[in-house]
Amino acid sequence: MARINKIGVLTSGGDAPGMNAAIRAVTRTAIYNNIEVIGIKEGYRGMIEKLFIPLWSHDVSDIIQRGGTILKTARCMEFKTAEGRQIAYNHLKEIGLNGVIVIGGDGTFTGARIFNEEFDIPLIGIPGTIDNDLYGTDYTIGYDTALNTVVQAVDKIRDTASAHNRMFFVEVMGAEAGFIALRSGIAAGAEAIIIPEVTDEVEKLKQMLKSGRRQRASNIVIVAEGDEGGGAYKLANDIKEHYPNYDIRITVLGHVQRGGSPSAFDRVTASRLGYAAVEALMDDQKSTMVGIQNNEIVLVPFRKAIKLHKNVNRSLLEIADVLAG
Ligand code: ATP
Repeated sequence: MARINKIGVLTSGGDAPGMNAAIRAVTRTAIYNNIEVIGIKEGYRGMIEKLFIPLWSHDVSDIIQRGGTILKTARCMEFKTAEGRQIAYNHLKEIGLNGVIVIGGDGTFTGARIFNEEFDIPLIGIPGTIDNDLYGTDYTIGYDTALNTVVQAVDKIRDTASAHNRMFFVEVMGAEAGFIALRSGIAAGAEAIIIPEVTDEVEKLKQMLKSGRRQRASNIVIVAEGDEGGGAYKLANDIKEHYPNYDIRITVLGHVQRGGSPSAFDRVTASRLGYAAVEALMDDQKSTMVGIQNNEIVLVPFRKAIKLHKNVNRSLLEIADVLAG
């Protein structure tokens, strides 16, 4: 295989704090190894529309602390078609790229896997999503920052909830997964955590309210957006109907969870993964995600990262239940 001497980097799917730190790590690691770097803007759309910009060391100065992504991100339907991917390949060939690092979630890796089955430019993935729902890595970039954002917000809600003896249903992001809800719920001392992976928690909450247990100045229930019950509004309305004595309010945290300066943990994770992704390309890897397991860097084939399901740690749910008192 020819030596890797020019690579691309892009961010795709939902943005996550720490993506910039990963772009910086990729760029600087590549330059250190005498590899030229091209930033591809707006995810896969940038491949199709030739949104290419050279990245030099100074282009990634002063971004490690910034949320969002300097390369922008987008969802690109054209890349889902064979014609779209052919155009993308032609453009990458035209500018002489011999590797691309894609930062995103499972959709991004699905596209990358298909592309690597069709074409000879190797693609390496870096897990970047606040949802932490990718198999093969303990943490995805952005998850820790999102958790901290949720905890800070819930602490504030707790103050006003206590002042009025209210019960708050706080809806958090997480797509179809309860990772953000579970950890933020523990960290914020929530009285109940409702996640899609566990079905009996709503029933437990109702039992708790019925028995009058946990009569507190405030009650916080964290609800994952993807919960089957239909999120915080539906659940809160159901509870209101059955337990009219509770003074209930609902807060949907929404996109505030995606923004903000990345935590130290996310910056370090992004830096390690960015460095590892360039090394993987230099080691002739392709169709592979770099991840972190037990604090070690690992390589996980896209095939597994996409197909296999990451389970929530049920012992955390048990701890949450016990500690809620
Ligand atoms: P997040 O987890 O934050 O949503 P994601 O990477 O899963 O991030 P998606 O919108 O699912 O986000 O996917 C990002 C992009 O990947 C899509 O817009 C599309 O360009 C490409 N993609 C997704 N699925 C496929 C597919 N089956 N074939 C080709 N490309 C795909």
